[in-house]
Amino acid sequence: MSGTTFFLTTGCVKTNCPLPDNINKQVQQLMINPDTRSSDLKRNSWSMGSLCADRITFKEGDHTWTFLLVWNTTHPKGPFWYLPHDNEESAFDAAVYAVKHYGGGFLAVESNDKRHVFGKDPNRNFKKNSLYSKKICKIMNTYKPMHLPYLALHTNAEGHFKNGGSGTVSMTQYSKNIFAFPAGTIKSGQKKGLKDEDTLIYLAGKKVQKDKIKKFTAEGLNVKFEKVTKKSNDNSMSNCIVLHQDHENYINIETEHGDITTHKKMIDKVMKIIGQKSI
Ligand SMILES: [Zn+2]
Repeated sequence: MSGTTFFLTTGCVKTNCPLPDNINKQVQQLMINPDTRSSDLKRNSWSMGSLCADRITFKEGDHTWTFLLVWNTTHPKGPFWYLPHDNEESAFDAAVYAVKHYGGGFLAVESNDKRHVFGKDPNRNFKKNSLYSKKICKIMNTYKPMHLPYLALHTNAEGHFKNGGSGTVSMTQYSKNIFAFPAGTIKSGQKKGLKDEDTLIYLAGKKVQKDKIKKFTAEGLNVKFEKVTKKSNDNSMSNCIVLHQDHENYINIETEHGDITTHKKMIDKVMKIIGQKSI
């Protein structure tokens, strides 16, 4: 066989697909070969047949950010998810499920399975008008129709004890600007399930939206609502969207690390709430 094969088949997933024009102008593409696949990609490649995965990078100051951009090649327009934490493995697996079943795509930070990249939390880097914020929003807006929310997937550690690490969120915790709306009884000490204290939806806005929260709790989904103000801005994606995109439509779906069954269930419920049918 002669000539150049543009698509490289690594397992079942397609890799190195041509990027949409407006993304191509924003980032550089790095070729993925069987040896340079991330553990996330290796673990999922056989179930990613309808999806394409591209590795993209851009420089911000001295740092180079690397991402895996995955999208459904037959249904590229659809829900689009952001996954900032490379240590949250089952969130990646849940994203593959979402994009296979509902179209669209996701963007996942690649950092050798670590939460932080060069000492930074990728979900605290959404500063106003920064290169990072602009590029990521452009990518999300390429796949996401206007009416759909900005979506994120995370997993978190068991329980609610501060152990010096981050990523410990729980329905039992709240603060001045983060309010908890449980769907029913909350159970501590569990590893999984909709009632687990670590299973929750994060919503964000300038004001607490009670009617919106009810749509989620009615489906059995625990909600935490973050009231975002300029003063409380922590440069996370939700804060950036509310403060700088003037968009109150943000949904983050969280479970405890490894609870993929509940994550899929929650994705189905959220898609039903936002009126997105499976493809
Ligand atoms: Zn996370």
